[in-house]
Amino acid sequence: MTPPLLSLAHPRELFHDLQVEPEDARSILRPQKDDRYGFGFALSPYRGCEHGCRYCYVRDYPQALPGEKGKPVDRSLWGTWAVPKLNAPELLWNQRHRLHGQTVFLASATDPYQPLEREFRLTRACLEVLLKCPTTRVLVHTRSPLVLQDLELLRAFGPRVRVGLSIPTDDDTVRQVVEPRSPPVPSRWAAMERLAQAGIEVNLAVAPLMPVHNPVAFARRAKDSGASGAWVGGLRLLKDDPFYDVLARNDWLFILDAEYQEQVAGVLREAFPRARRREAQETRAVPPRHPLVPAQRGLFEGM
Ligand code: SF4
Repeated sequence: MTPPLLSLAHPRELFHDLQVEPEDARSILRPQKDDRYGFGFALSPYRGCEHGCRYCYVRDYPQALPGEKGKPVDRSLWGTWAVPKLNAPELLWNQRHRLHGQTVFLASATDPYQPLEREFRLTRACLEVLLKCPTTRVLVHTRSPLVLQDLELLRAFGPRVRVGLSIPTDDDTVRQVVEPRSPPVPSRWAAMERLAQAGIEVNLAVAPLMPVHNPVAFARRAKDSGASGAWVGGLRLLKDDPFYDVLARNDWLFILDAEYQEQVAGVLREAFPRARRREAQETRAVPPRHPLVPAQRGLFEGM
C-alpha cells in the first residue's frame, strides 16, 4: 500500500495559506440509499476541499476542524482548510466486507485529486484497497488532471472503474470566476484524452452547468477527447448564497433556468445518446429567463 509521503509535524508551514489539519476519521464509507445516484457508498479521503469552488454546496455542511468539535467552520472560509483523513485506507480495508458487489463513489464532498493528494496519496491508497475487492466498481469524480498520476492504477481496474471529469463550462474565463483555484479547463480536456487513450472509461460531467457558449462545439470536444458519456447537473444554490450575486453581476443567472439546462443536455444527447440532466436538489432563487432562450422551442431543437 502506498504510504503518505508526508508526516506532518507542521502542516501549516508546508501549505502556505491552506490550513491543513490531518485527523483520524471514525468512519469512511457513507451509505447512499437513493438508487438514482448509481452508487452504494460514497468515500471521501479528505474533508474540505482546496479547490474552494465558489458555488460548492458542501461549504454549507456543518463541519468542524479536528479538536474544534461544536465550532463549525464558517462557510465563507470554504477552500481555505482541508482535513486529510490519514487512516482512510486502513478504515476502508477494515470495512471491505461491505463492498461485495457494490459501487463506491470518490468523492461526494471533496475532490479526491485536489492538490493535497500529490503529497498525501490517500485517494491512491484507497484505490489500492478497492483494487483488491474484485466485485466492487469504482466511480471517480474530479476536476483535476492530477488524476493522471494514478493512470496505471486506474487502468488495472479494467471495466470496474469509470472516471468523471467535471467541466462545467467551455470558457476558461468563466472558470476563473467560479472556480479560481481549480485546474484550467484545457488541462481537463487533456486529462480526459489521456485517460481515454489508456482505455479507461471517462465521462464528461457538466456539473454544475455554468455558461456554455457553444454547446455543439463543447459536445464535439468531449467526443473528440474520448468521452463515452456525459451528463448535465443543475446548480444547487444555498440559502442567501453570495454566489447568486456572482451570477447576477456577470449576467449568468440564466444557468439556473431548467430550460437552458435541458437545451445543453439536448445537444450533448446528439453526441452521447444517453446524456441526461440531473436537476439540482434545491434551488432557492427564482431565475429570470435567459434572453436567448425562447419561450416554446429550444435553441437547439432540430439540430
Ligand atoms: S472540487 Fe468539488 S468538492 Fe471541491 S470545492 Fe469544487 S465543487 Fe466543491
